[in-house]
Amino acid sequence: AGYRNFVGCTEPKTAIDKLMETRPDVLFLDVVMPGLNGIEILRNLRDEKLLHDTPVIVLTSSSDPKVKLQALEFGAADFLSKPVDPSELVLRLRNTLSAKAYRDRLAYFDRVTGLPNRRMFIDRLDWACRHAKRFGDRGAVLLLDLDRFRQVNEAFGPNAGDALLREVGERLAACVRETDAIARLGRMGSIPSLSRLGGDEFSLLLTQIDCDENAVAVSTRLLDCLRGKPFNVGNSEIFLSASIGISVFPENGKDVDSLLKNAGVALRHAKEERRGQFAFFSKELNVRALQRLNIENELRRAIENNEFRLHLQPKIFTSGKALAGAEALARWQHPDRGLLGPMEFIPVAESSGLIVSFGERILASACTQFVEWASRGLYPGRISVNVSALQIRDPGFVDSVARIVAQTGMPPGSLCLEVTESVILQRTSETSRVLQQLHELGLWLSIDDFGAGFTSLGHLKGLPFDELKIDKSLNDGIEKDARSRAIVSAIIALAHHLGHRVVAEGVETAGQHAFLLESGSDECQGYFFGKPVAASEFEARWLPANSLEKKSAA
Ligand code: C2E
Ligand code: CA
Ligand code: CA
Repeated sequence: AGYRNFVGCTEPKTAIDKLMETRPDVLFLDVVMPGLNGIEILRNLRDEKLLHDTPVIVLTSSSDPKVKLQALEFGAADFLSKPVDPSELVLRLRNTLSAKAYRDRLAYFDRVTGLPNRRMFIDRLDWACRHAKRFGDRGAVLLLDLDRFRQVNEAFGPNAGDALLREVGERLAACVRETDAIARLGRMGSIPSLSRLGGDEFSLLLTQIDCDENAVAVSTRLLDCLRGKPFNVGNSEIFLSASIGISVFPENGKDVDSLLKNAGVALRHAKEERRGQFAFFSKELNVRALQRLNIENELRRAIENNEFRLHLQPKIFTSGKALAGAEALARWQHPDRGLLGPMEFIPVAESSGLIVSFGERILASACTQFVEWASRGLYPGRISVNVSALQIRDPGFVDSVARIVAQTGMPPGSLCLEVTESVILQRTSETSRVLQQLHELGLWLSIDDFGAGFTSLGHLKGLPFDELKIDKSLNDGIEKDARSRAIVSAIIALAHHLGHRVVAEGVETAGQHAFLLESGSDECQGYFFGKPVAASEFEARWLPANSLEKKSAA
C-alpha cells in the first residue's frame, strides 16, 4: 500500500531498546511470544516518557477477551486477528496513522509558524542525547532569538507580529533545507529539527556534527538569511537581525536541561556583546550568568545604599564650543567590581522592575545637583535625564516626576527627559497622554537614539517633543559615505520643519563636527567635545564661566 519504512524485531527482550532507537509512528505487537509477552512490553512502553504516546496495534490469535481487555487497559489503539487479512491491515494502519498525525499536529507543532514546537524539540533533543551517549557522536543546540522583536510587536500589533514570525519561520526553514542539501544537517527521520520554542525564540538541533565549524557555518547562514533582505510588516519594510547561542554536546551538557540552559547563557552573551552575532557557551560565560543572577539582589541593595553616581556629558552648541546642557548618565559604584556602566545593570533593572525606583533616584540626584549648582551661581544649561520605556508605562510616573521637581526646587524648564523610540513605537493613547502631561509640567522632552531603529519622523507627529537626538550609528557614517550624509542632513531639515531642536550624538571627530555645523544641527554631543565625567569634574571643566562671579564675590 505504499508504506516502506518497517523495522522488525523478533527478540522481545530487545524490543524496548529498538523502539527507543527508531521511535516508530506505529507499533504492531504480537501478544504471545517466547520470553516476554506482548502485554508486558505494552506496560514497559507506557512507562517510557518518549514512547508513551506511540499507537500500538495488537495482533492476537487468541480469542480470549481477557487478553484484549488487558491490552486495552495499557492503551492499545486497535486489534488485528491472526491470520491477518491484508486489506484490513492497510485499513487499520491508515486510520491509526492519520489519527496520530492529527494528534501530533496539535501537540507537537506551533500554530503560528507550523514548525515543530518546544515539546517536539525537547523530545528530539532527548533522543539525540541518548543516541550520542550510546554512539559517542557530537551535536549542537542553536538557540536563535530575534533582536528587538518586542518593539516590532508593540509597534505593529500582535497580528503583524505573528505574520512576521511566520515569515521568519519560512525563511529559516528554507535556509535549513538549503544547508541540508549541502551538509547533512542533523535531520532525524523526516522531521527537520528546526523548531519554534515560543515567543521570538527558534531552535535548531544539529546531530552528528564532526566539529564546531559546522555549527559556525550553519549559524552564519541563518543570521545572513534573516538580515539579507527586509520583511514586510503592515505597510512597512523592516530589517531584522537575530542572535544565536550555541551549546555543544557532550562538552556543554549531556541532557536536555543543561544543553538548553547553556545555549541560553550563550545567547544572552551574544545579545549583550553585539546583536546579530552567535556565541558558544563556555565556562567563563557560566560564571557570568551566575553573577547576573546575583546582580538583581545587589541592585536592590545598591538602590537602598545609594551606590549610583551621576556622570554628566556636555552638550555643545554646534556653532561655537559653548556648553548648551548636560546629559546625566548613570554609573554604579559597585563595592567589589568598581565603576559599572549602565549596560551592566539597566537591562537587569528593567527585567526586575527595579528600574522605577532606580529612575526616581537618578532623576532626584540630577535635579539636586542642578539646584545645588544654581545656588552657587553655576549654570550647566538644561540637564537631560534618560527615562526607560518601562518607567513611562508605570502608572505613577507623572506624579513621581512632579513630586521630585517640586521637592528639589528644580525649574521644570531646565529639565529634559530623554525617551527612546520604543516609547513612540508602542504609541498608545496612554503614552501620548503621559507625554502630554509631562509637557504640561513644563519639562522638555527629547527623542533619543533617533535613526537607530524603526522610528520615522511620521511617528512623531502630534507628540510634544522638543528635541530629537540623531543616533551615533548615523553620525558614524558622516565621514565615510555620502548616503549617511544625505540621511543626516535630511533628518535635520525635516526635524527643523517640525519644530524640533536637533542634537547629534556620538560626535568623535572634527570632520563630523564640520559637517553637522554645515547641515544646521543645533547641538552636538560626543567624545570630541567631552566624555561623561563625575559631577565634580564636570564642574571644574565646564562651569568655569562663573569664575567671574566667584572672583567678584571674593
Ligand atoms: P544614550 O542615552 O544614548 O547615551 C549615550 C551613550 O553614548 C553613553 O553611554 C555615552 O557615554 C556614550 N557616548 C557619548 N558620546 C560618545 C562618543 O563620542 N563615542 C562613543 N563611542 N560613545 C559615546 P553610557 O553612559 O554607557 O550609556 C548607555 C546607555 O544607557 C544610554 O544611552 C542610556 O540609554 C542608558 N542610560 C544611561 N543612564 C541611564 C539612566 O539613568 N536611566 C536609564 N533608563 N537609562 C540610562
Ligand atoms: Ca540619552
Ligand atoms: Ca542616545
